[in-house]
Amino acid sequence: MTAPEPLMRMRLRVEQDIFTVRQLGREVARAVGMESQDQTRMATALSEVGRVLLAQGPHADVTFTAELYGVPSLQVTMAHSAGGGAARLAEQLQQVGRLVDMMEVDDGGPGTTVRMVRRLPLGAPVLTPTRMDEIRARLARHVPGSPLDELAVQNQQLIAALDEVRAQRDDLARLNAELEETNRGVMALYHQLSDELEETNRGVVALYAELDEKSVQLRAASEAKSRFLANVSHELRAPVTAIIGLGRLLVDSSSDELTEDQARQVELIRTSATDLLTLVNGLLDLAKAEAGRFEPNWTEVDLKAMFGQLRGTLRPLATRPEVEFVVEEPAVPALRSDEVLLAQVLRNLLTNALKFTEFGSVRLGVRRSGAEVEFVVADTGTGIPPELHERIFEEFYQVPGSKPISGKGTGLGLPYARRLAGILGGGLRVESVPGEGSRFTLQLPAEPS
Ligand code: ADP
Repeated sequence: MTAPEPLMRMRLRVEQDIFTVRQLGREVARAVGMESQDQTRMATALSEVGRVLLAQGPHADVTFTAELYGVPSLQVTMAHSAGGGAARLAEQLQQVGRLVDMMEVDDGGPGTTVRMVRRLPLGAPVLTPTRMDEIRARLARHVPGSPLDELAVQNQQLIAALDEVRAQRDDLARLNAELEETNRGVMALYHQLSDELEETNRGVVALYAELDEKSVQLRAASEAKSRFLANVSHELRAPVTAIIGLGRLLVDSSSDELTEDQARQVELIRTSATDLLTLVNGLLDLAKAEAGRFEPNWTEVDLKAMFGQLRGTLRPLATRPEVEFVVEEPAVPALRSDEVLLAQVLRNLLTNALKFTEFGSVRLGVRRSGAEVEFVVADTGTGIPPELHERIFEEFYQVPGSKPISGKGTGLGLPYARRLAGILGGGLRVESVPGEGSRFTLQLPAEPS
């Protein structure tokens, strides 16, 4: 693409030409669509560069061009006949450079060249070759005024600039006043908020103190309950055991023969006392677990051996041919835990499963799950309604209407099992669907800390 034809050329020779270039600069800037402030900027830049250039040599050529095809802009080149001074000149013109978008000082060609570019505002009329011709014709008609005229124009510009500065100062004062007012408002709000915050804090602190006190009381009450249960059940155990023993003596063949009625009544006393002993033992165990009396004896538990024992001891309970009793081969060979407590939990879960399963199967398995080992006791028994899944872990709670197929319950087995699971560093959970069966999972850490 060829460079566009210049809009205007002129040569600076004498000092008066500085006024001319200034006037011309403003005219060209106006003609290509720059706003008044930009016109003044351009004019000032040209007269300043012209002044500096003339001080260094006899003459300088000024060329005005406009960019039509790229970013619309006005370009002015001022070529000075003497070369070699670009670096110094650039330093001298540093301030002036701020008046335009780009200023280059360069030693190429016959002398030093100063090139300035200023972009046209977005709203400026589009520059077309035809419009460029019109601008050229208009500029050619332009007759530069005298230095006095230029002075008058400059004065007017100065007055306009002063007015603007005054208006800006007034604006600033108004803004400051507004800002001060806003600040006062913000400060008031801040004080109010910090007062409220302080009050809320005081409330929260008081609440925490109360909460602390309540939890101390709660702990004391729970300890008192455990102590009471432990003492009562301990005290009950001896007389109940004695009643069972005496009952056995009464029905013994070496004792006096009893009437049929008497024998039935003694048997009733014996079974009731046995139930009572089971209850007392359960309560004692639970109280001990709650009071933290169990200190686990951590050893490497051989699960294969433990599963074998469970299979053997529980087989006599699984007498119904309709229920398949399966203790799987353990998929995890060993685990660091307390053998007695772990066996107690599993026995408890298996006994429950056998008690509540009429058909199908009761199954014990173990598997590794990440950093945990999971023991699963699954049955196809009566199942437990979902809303009672947590309640069955409460002391003495039994699902209303659920009747064990064999034996009786106290409602203490699951709370005890969950306590033990906790003591072993794990947990006990249930999934169950009424009519389909239940699945109890004892989760223990593979490596207890
Ligand atoms: P219980 O001595 O009555 O078995 P638990 O605390 O062991 O006491 O269980 C509480 C209740 O949870 C049981 O009475 C029973 O209603 C229900 N339950 C426990 N295990 C099962 C199971 N495997 N299938 C169905 N119901 C169960």
